[in-house]
Amino acid sequence: MSVVVVGAGLAGLTAAADLAAAGVEITVLEARDRVGGRTHGIEVAPGAWADGGAAYLGDRHTELHKLMAGLGLAATPTAMDGGSRFALGGGEKTRAGRFPPLNAVALGELFDLLYDLTARVRPDAPWLTPGAAGLDAVTAAEWAAGALRHPDARLFFPLFLGEMMAADPASVSVLHMALYLRSGGGIRYLNAFSGGAQQDRVLGGAHQIAERLAAQLGARVRLNRPVRAIRQDGGGVSVHTGDGEEHRADAVVVAVPPLLAQSIDYRPGLPAPRATTATGRGCAVKVQLVYREPYWHAHGLSGWSVSATGPLLSTVDDSPPDAGAGVLTGFVTGAEAYRFAALDPAAREAETLRQVGELFPGLPPPDAVHVSDWVNEPYSRGCYAAVFGPGDWLRLGPGLRTPHGRVHWAGTETSTEFFGLMEGAIRSGHRVAAEVLSSHATLWREP
Ligand SMILES: Cc1cc2nc3c(=O)[nH]c(=O)nc-3n(C[C@H](O)[C@H](O)[C@H](O)COP(=O)(O)OP(=O)(O)OC[C@H]3O[C@@H](n4cnc5c(N)ncnc54)[C@H](O)[C@@H]3O)c2cc1C
Repeated sequence: MSVVVVGAGLAGLTAAADLAAAGVEITVLEARDRVGGRTHGIEVAPGAWADGGAAYLGDRHTELHKLMAGLGLAATPTAMDGGSRFALGGGEKTRAGRFPPLNAVALGELFDLLYDLTARVRPDAPWLTPGAAGLDAVTAAEWAAGALRHPDARLFFPLFLGEMMAADPASVSVLHMALYLRSGGGIRYLNAFSGGAQQDRVLGGAHQIAERLAAQLGARVRLNRPVRAIRQDGGGVSVHTGDGEEHRADAVVVAVPPLLAQSIDYRPGLPAPRATTATGRGCAVKVQLVYREPYWHAHGLSGWSVSATGPLLSTVDDSPPDAGAGVLTGFVTGAEAYRFAALDPAAREAETLRQVGELFPGLPPPDAVHVSDWVNEPYSRGCYAAVFGPGDWLRLGPGLRTPHGRVHWAGTETSTEFFGLMEGAIRSGHRVAAEVLSSHATLWREP
């Protein structure tokens, strides 16, 4: 049996590795000139890497841990010792721990309301949640305007959603917000460093996972091959790339974000769309400031900060553990990411340096500033993951994983467990490989 996999992110490469191990003839077609998709390494100092894309993982990310162990990769704890900085109106403040200097009762009530919503959603089939139509008709911004009374809860909610989902509350449906928070392990787990989803990073960078998987697949992974069309006929399927190549196979796995999957030309056409005009991209720009060492530690600070105004809505210490460099990573998320991404590079850097100077007075100028602009990445269009807008789950949900003849679907957005995360991508890769093997069992003999 032969299978073409479209997309060499974690989902596509996991599927390809499973299928290759089962004796299937594999070709992976990747649009970019690199593998890894939404994971991407930046060399911040000779031999020291930071994550321009996905970075964090926790103990519940069991498939990711298994995959890393098999590839000889280790996790390293995210450093969070020291005080936090907050700029939430009324000047900058330092606090022990991560709890913001806002009204604790108001934030408690906000989290109680979010817990109620996440407890209601059916993670395996969000569209079958009791009251799904109502929850899917309303944006998170509309929900917040009705449900949140205290100004501190209203101030904090978009920052929380930006940090968790890189989403603008005006573009995400309440059903999607609830599904995302639930499928990631719940609010407490998703939001936590120690014991939570941000507990660790991949030592040496998350990009190595895809690079090592691709190295094992060798020449079967073809770069610079954007897939434009997929044609099925009685005998099989033909996958056409932008430069006119045709790859013939028994089945195809499409492992790309929904907006990109929707832009491929399918014949016969798809019975249901993979994205609608309400489907948003979510978005983050990640800014890495590189110093000789993590100077903020000497001031008793962890590097963690939260700000109500941009560009950096939060910062975190991403220094490599061998202290070969100090790396402060800033997250520009939601609506602010679109404004920031539209600036020219000099303006981006000037805004960043001004804000970091206010948050961490006394820091020397950075040796380098790296900007990972996911807003303008034509082959991502979903970051951290696609943001499902009003009506999307009801319309798209039932068909998200349903094969279209010989075309099968993967990618983190097809996983209702850890939707949007590396763990979701890997789980979707394993799921789709098993699905292909069982659907085309007559073509496949165990090696
Ligand atoms: C800034 C940022 C921070 C993040 N933080 C975290 C985090 O801390 N922890 C975490 O777990 N997750 C995080 N994520 C999310 C995580 O990166 C993704 O969930 C995961 O990598 C998605 O993998 P995937 O294989 O589903 O999709 P992708 O990685 O998007 O892979 C899809 C691949 O398909 C290719 N492609 C697209 N269109 C075509 C086409 N037409 N033809 C051929 N190839 C095509 C793309 O180039 C890409 O390589 C973050 C993401 C970003 C961007």
